[in-house]
Amino acid sequence: MKQGKKVTVLGAGKSGIAAANLLHQNGMQVFLSEKGKQHFEIDPVIKSEFCGHSEKIYDCDFAVISPGIPINLPLVQKFTCPVYSEIEIASWFIDFPMIGITGSNGKTTTTAILAEMLKSSGFHAIACGNIGKPLSEIAQKTPHPNSVAVVELSSFQLETIDKFHPAVAAVLNLSPDHLDRYDSFDDYCKTKIKIAKNLDVAEPFVVNGDDPVLLKHSENFTNRVFFSLSGNQEFRYEDGVFFLRGKPLIETKNLQISGLHNYANILAAMTIVHAFGADVKTCLNGLRNFGGIPHRLEKISIPSEIQVYNDSKATNSDSVSWALRSFDQPIILLMGGIAKEKTYSHLQNLVNDKVKRIIAFGQDREKIATEFGYKIPTQITETLHKAIELAVFHAENSDIILLSPGCASFDEFSNFEERGDFFKQKIREIFHA
Ligand code: ADP
Repeated sequence: MKQGKKVTVLGAGKSGIAAANLLHQNGMQVFLSEKGKQHFEIDPVIKSEFCGHSEKIYDCDFAVISPGIPINLPLVQKFTCPVYSEIEIASWFIDFPMIGITGSNGKTTTTAILAEMLKSSGFHAIACGNIGKPLSEIAQKTPHPNSVAVVELSSFQLETIDKFHPAVAAVLNLSPDHLDRYDSFDDYCKTKIKIAKNLDVAEPFVVNGDDPVLLKHSENFTNRVFFSLSGNQEFRYEDGVFFLRGKPLIETKNLQISGLHNYANILAAMTIVHAFGADVKTCLNGLRNFGGIPHRLEKISIPSEIQVYNDSKATNSDSVSWALRSFDQPIILLMGGIAKEKTYSHLQNLVNDKVKRIIAFGQDREKIATEFGYKIPTQITETLHKAIELAVFHAENSDIILLSPGCASFDEFSNFEERGDFFKQKIREIFHA
């Protein structure tokens, strides 16, 4: 396949390097080009350049771009050959089933839940893609019998797929996100739906039946299978119990994760397992043992009646709204950073209902405070550190202190993980945990 071809790989992050290694291993002449400095080790036989892209990048039969590089950049537009994502090229070398998962929120959680469920039922399931392990890395290894790749896909990774062909595809939900990279919300939705473009009619496309935007965008697919928190599908959730065809399957009190959004993710995972042809009943141990993922509504263990949650991954308003709906106690909400949406006013009723105090921090603190109209006590402060101190000062009894920023972190931190780790560390220091 494509042996001897010349390939340019743009971006020497984890996925770019994995793609370069994979293509080199398969007999192609790879040239790796990176705008910044070198951060990871590279096999010296692979030709590379750093600190800028030279004209040499255009001397190739096809190019692979890292998800961080928008395809509409003039640099990318200048290629006269095909340009693919790392996921696309990795998929050429994988001959065991893949399950593709995308959506605006819940991708990582659902990917991890699904992989754990399949593992507990005897599959060699590998969570990969946007979750952190590049698909190209998986493609280099000899597969185990019963291998299945559970691939989390961002919209960026879907922009340049061509033949990527999962056995089951799923879109969890569609809400505005990353709109800085798309001409419109419609364009963003169309990119997400691409995940299902190569499915045969008999291959299931799992979609959220509660999401009207997603329903509209997927209406031409005859292979849709629905999951729904409110409807009566094969799998159903009601009052702390999951049902399969009307019979109780598992109760939430036996799970380690909570929140309605996570119950939606579990319904999605169950529906995918079933659509994949596995028996959900044999996968329940994996679900029971799933302990959640850091920075997604993660409870911080402290010796206090006050409860503290780190939801640093909540970088858009939809995630914030699900986090707020997960609690009945009064919430002190820490929101802030770099706003990705024009307005947060649609959260106002929920905030009025659930939140006793907002502490807005970071670059867009004024905007956030103004959006909520000062209907509840609001404080504005420059840094997350100061916001934490204020939250702890005001918290009493069984209040919830919730970091669910609804914004990107780059004004103060390198990424959401660093922001969440900082939050956890400060909270533990204050509470001597
Ligand atoms: P993604 O990988 O799509 O960014 P994650 O699983 O990392 O999703 O969760 C990101 C944020 O979204 C977290 O704050 C989490 O609490 C929230 N979240 C998780 N699942 C859902 C869902 N189904 N709907 C809305 N928000 C969700």
